[in-house]
Amino acid sequence: MKNEGTTLDPDTEEFRKAGHQLVDWIAEYLGHPERHAVLSQVSPGDVKAQFAASPSRHGKSYELLAREFEEKILPGVTHWNHPAFFAYFAITGSQAGILGELLSAALNINGMLWKTSPAATELETVALGWLRDALGLPSSFFGIINDTASINTFLALAAARESLGLSIRREGMTGRELPRLKVYCSDQTHSSIEKAALALGFGSNGVVKIATDESFRMRIDLLVDAIARDRREGALPVAVVATTGTTSTAAVDPVEAIVEITERERIWLHVDAAYGGSIAIIPEFRGFWRGVERADSMVINPHKWLFTPVDCSVLYTRRPDVLKETFSLVPEYLKTTDSAEINYMDYGLQLGRRFRALKLWMVIEHYGIEHLQEVIRGHIAMARRLGENLEAREDVELLAPQSMGVVVFRKIVRDSSGGVDEMASERLTSDLLSTMNASGKLFVSHTRLRDRYGIRVAVGNGATKWEHLEALLKFL
Ligand code: PLP
Repeated sequence: MKNEGTTLDPDTEEFRKAGHQLVDWIAEYLGHPERHAVLSQVSPGDVKAQFAASPSRHGKSYELLAREFEEKILPGVTHWNHPAFFAYFAITGSQAGILGELLSAALNINGMLWKTSPAATELETVALGWLRDALGLPSSFFGIINDTASINTFLALAAARESLGLSIRREGMTGRELPRLKVYCSDQTHSSIEKAALALGFGSNGVVKIATDESFRMRIDLLVDAIARDRREGALPVAVVATTGTTSTAAVDPVEAIVEITERERIWLHVDAAYGGSIAIIPEFRGFWRGVERADSMVINPHKWLFTPVDCSVLYTRRPDVLKETFSLVPEYLKTTDSAEINYMDYGLQLGRRFRALKLWMVIEHYGIEHLQEVIRGHIAMARRLGENLEAREDVELLAPQSMGVVVFRKIVRDSSGGVDEMASERLTSDLLSTMNASGKLFVSHTRLRDRYGIRVAVGNGATKWEHLEALLKFL
């Protein structure tokens, strides 16, 4: 046959040249983020309109593709690597992490079974053991990396559901009498908890949102009341989700008080530390999540505040046996005869797995725990200083206590009697946000707290310095 033996890449010379050029490009990009507007200024459809209706039939050189990347794609990129990216949760495409990703892409392994790449499984176990120790978590915590906290919370709540003893894995949830199942979380909880509850068949009515106190922390008295009321009405509590570092304000639910309740009531406790968990690598800040060691599961995202490129989220659980009972399903073609302790496919929904541990290992080992601690300490100090600067102003109000790397504020307009004109304050604050973001010099996002619109600043990028926050203050 004529086509036999047609290989994809004739040799590696073209790759080597293009690869060097791209690494040079990346180094230049990381070295001069200020050349780019933080928030992409394109309009919807602008990027798409530049591409032909059908792809190239005969291929294009890497050189041409690099040019197209710069001209057509880069303007449509919002620069999460920019040190003045303060929206959502700032993240970092760290140099060590990028190199880890590069190697992972090159190896292109699928770590579904131990034997499909023993190093992928074993490095994941090692790196997650180091991270667990650095966070001060007990050695009984089993860890697994998945792409996002959303997936990890879904897995945790699925295990919580399985732990109820209702044989849901075998019998399903329909066509038989089951009590209504309830998950408790605060009114500040991330939407991923509700999405997981929807996917697991609890329904949105199965998610009980507990009101929060003046610092946006879950109110324990209301949690106790809600559980008691639901039990009286014949519902069955599945899990409580405590958040240590909420999305809007980085508020911290009182984990120790909550775990007293979940242990007494025999309810699964899942801790969402997707954002805030990273500060636990700093011993003097660790008190915020006291009690977490008694949780059944917790999630932390190294891709948020631990300088590991997206995506890398870690689920730790004291009950890997339940996770495995929930998800393990081994068809003939995946059976193995080796005595590997872990095949990570048994602990989740997905079969195929990227070699994410490589970038986490690279980040932890290249920077070392002490340097990571120093950078996070700096972020917290800068956020605190920003909060103090804002608080000192007559025309600004902090909408929540400053916490971790997050500051939420609004501009205040006074009415004739000296009170706050709510509508005018909201207009002024949202106009300020638009002006800041249109400048291309920084990017902030917003939230709404007790019906008050606020600008939300999250400090967390590895290249951020105080001068970037000073630039923000100049807009006020
Ligand atoms: N939990 C909290 C507290 C978050 O802030 C977020 C995202 O910002 C998530 C969970 C979801 O994270 P992911 O994007 O990894 O699913």
